[in-house]
Amino acid sequence: MTEKFAAAEIIAAKRDKSELSDPQIDWIVDAYTRGVVADEQMSALLMAILLNGMSMREISRWTDAMIASGERMSWPQLKVPTADKHSTGGVGDKITLPLAPLVAACGVAVPQLSGRGLGHTGGTLDKLESISGWRASLSNQEMLNVLQECGAVICAAGSGLAPADKKLYALRDVTGTVPAIPLIASSIMSKKIAEGTESLVLDVKTGSGAFMSDPSQAEKLAKTMVELGKRAGVNTRALVTAMDVPLGLTVGNALEVRETLEVLAGGGPSDVVELTLILAREMLSMAGVDSDPEVALKSGSAMDRWRKMIIMQGGDPDAPLPTARERHIVNAESTGTIIEMDALKVGVAAWRLGAGRSRQGEKVQAGAGIEIHAKPGEKVRAGSPLFTLHTDEPARFELALDALVGATEISASAEVVKRLPLVVARIN
Ligand code: URA
Repeated sequence: MTEKFAAAEIIAAKRDKSELSDPQIDWIVDAYTRGVVADEQMSALLMAILLNGMSMREISRWTDAMIASGERMSWPQLKVPTADKHSTGGVGDKITLPLAPLVAACGVAVPQLSGRGLGHTGGTLDKLESISGWRASLSNQEMLNVLQECGAVICAAGSGLAPADKKLYALRDVTGTVPAIPLIASSIMSKKIAEGTESLVLDVKTGSGAFMSDPSQAEKLAKTMVELGKRAGVNTRALVTAMDVPLGLTVGNALEVRETLEVLAGGGPSDVVELTLILAREMLSMAGVDSDPEVALKSGSAMDRWRKMIIMQGGDPDAPLPTARERHIVNAESTGTIIEMDALKVGVAAWRLGAGRSRQGEKVQAGAGIEIHAKPGEKVRAGSPLFTLHTDEPARFELALDALVGATEISASAEVVKRLPLVVARIN
């Protein structure tokens, strides 16, 4: 096959800050997926995009080209509206787990394609895999069956969905080209548009534990993704939410499932419950369904959906969750009020304990992670526990403790707690 363009010319154009044409974008994404453009050429282009940016037209075309690299799903068999939520990733962010069955219990179907942990951020599939027998990989027919029976399904994107993103994502991870708005926006939205949801709420994280730590950059990312959704006919809104402090009181796979069960049983940490309800209300209002998610949470109907969903995907909702072999408690060094807790440091510590991967394809430890005993705003005494670290390999404690140095600030005076509001901005 004679190729329409030469990769080097396209790389040079972006290096020199030119806009790429639609045919150039279509070709380079397709040719990279086919293996005609080499990894080193695509790496150079990704770095040029990171440094020089892309116009909205270029981002939109790049997203369309990634969608066109694979199949596009749709759910005409369902008798109820569909809505989904996507988080850009955080520390202790287990919200998808209670949210999907909760929204399903309120009458809106949730076809949720999720990912694995990336760097210091946890992944929904890794968390669910700590449940005995649970399967992330489903065929399209199995996905439809679970959706029809339970109203919610959480699974891995199949190999046929946006294959261009799978290759680009792996390449970005090892070439320092993850934190670029055009690349993050097109990566997330290509998968969400191809998944076939009618409505989509984006939870764009900001603060130290997020990929976009600066709130103004997070807002720019949110606006870009909302625009991409609208152009593709998906009813899209975004909330920019706090990730300066870990969400809830657990970070790590099985630990976060345990906390999810507390929320579904009507308890759980207030920030996790509040964000779950905020996002559920957003999804229900976009789907045009007038139902109170707080009632579904308190009545146990969200828990019923969860149990059904886990069973249909091969899991045993009653099996004891795995626990790590070793524990280490970190105590407060002084008495006072916690005024700061750095989500990034806690996320890196959990990652080093084995909750995340250091190499592609590595197995995560289901029981590894961190329990948080006190959060910003709470008073602690010198010697009282702040964190319990969990791992199967005690050699990991030292590295995790290094990451936690300076993670919390305790003040003896009644200083103002330094933290972002839960919802920082809203983009409709
Ligand atoms: N999640 C994605 O799917 N893609 C990114 O680039 C970042 C987070």
